[in-house]
Amino acid sequence: MQRILLMMSDTGGGHRASAQALKAGYEELYPGRFEIDIVDVITDYLPYPLNQIPKTYPFLSNDAPWMWKLLYGSQDPLSFGNGLMVTGSWLAQNGVRRLFAEKRPDLIVSVHPLFQLVSKWVMDKMQWRAPFVTVVTDLTTGHPRWFDPGVDACYVPSQVTYDLARKAGLRPDQLFLFGLPIRPAFARAIRSKPDLRRTLRMDPALPAVLLIGGGEGVGPVEEIAAQLARQLSAGSTAAGQIVVICGRNKALQERLQARTWPIPVTVNGFVDNMPDWMAACDCVVTKAGPGTIAEALISGLPIVLSGFIPGQEEGNVPFVVENGVGEYSKNPSEIAAIVARWFGPGRDDLPLMAARARELGHPQATFDIVRSTINLLEAYPHKSIG
Ligand code: UDP
Repeated sequence: MQRILLMMSDTGGGHRASAQALKAGYEELYPGRFEIDIVDVITDYLPYPLNQIPKTYPFLSNDAPWMWKLLYGSQDPLSFGNGLMVTGSWLAQNGVRRLFAEKRPDLIVSVHPLFQLVSKWVMDKMQWRAPFVTVVTDLTTGHPRWFDPGVDACYVPSQVTYDLARKAGLRPDQLFLFGLPIRPAFARAIRSKPDLRRTLRMDPALPAVLLIGGGEGVGPVEEIAAQLARQLSAGSTAAGQIVVICGRNKALQERLQARTWPIPVTVNGFVDNMPDWMAACDCVVTKAGPGTIAEALISGLPIVLSGFIPGQEEGNVPFVVENGVGEYSKNPSEIAAIVARWFGPGRDDLPLMAARARELGHPQATFDIVRSTINLLEAYPHKSIG
């Protein structure tokens, strides 16, 4: 059996979600043909203190976004963050070498900006090569380390990242614009809204807003929920219902579950059936995570962006606003006012935005990427590991 190695790290739910989507795509299109490993390279193969980076992500993105921006760097190759990435890659070489020797992959897929450079260095030193591809999981603000002209292929989710890759020296024949890899469930026919709402125990008739803070449940989710409840209950009858997804943030989930609400509110922890929740709702309030945005587009959900992680998510805001599929505000009261408008006087805008969102979505992205990488593997001259 041939082996596929998916290199990721849990710096945010997005990288793991993309890796899992690709794994599911390989298994669905090529059942039983590949042994597929998703490896959190930073946590499982890098030395201390580098292996602690994923643990700091919730702190950095929630409490110290300025530090995140500094570390994550800018497009400037001479920035502090980029220098740190290069140093990190240098320190990561032994770990990555051990990873390649242990897994002996026939195909390597990196869904993280940190692994292009170090993998190239390690393969050169080992005098061994497996086809190596990058799947970019940032919609817009592509970190410079994503793009390495030495890869066999680079899959980008948007025109902006395509242009960044070209600027970084990748050739058109290395580049594929297929969209962000989203789990295959988003490409399947979904049950009807009334059916889903029954199963998910939602109100059958009231317009529903889905409130998400990424995989970690970060940002002012609680304040936004409170403002939504206040403004959607302002009239004599409820103008909507709220579904909150707290991700892995248990404390947030418990606080929200303990509150009493003036309108129907459903509070969830980490859910595995996001396509159902999205299809059951009418719009979404989320931080500017690329995964959630891409999923919302496929699901035809107008989006209110409630914030972004400086650096990596910043460009997702103009992406949503300029494409006419949503609005941005980081003020909970303003966010609630946008939703109240969409569910009230502006209700005719909602289907138009939903249609535009569907047009921008790439439901087949995962399958397109999977097929393309396997074509590459099949055409690759085989070399066993040294
Ligand atoms: N997600 C999920 N269940 C949850 C919360 C989030 O499956 O309870 C998924 C969500 O659908 C998306 C990913 O986690 O695929 C979050 O990625 P995003 O890029 O939006 O944000 P991140 O958490 O990486 O900052």
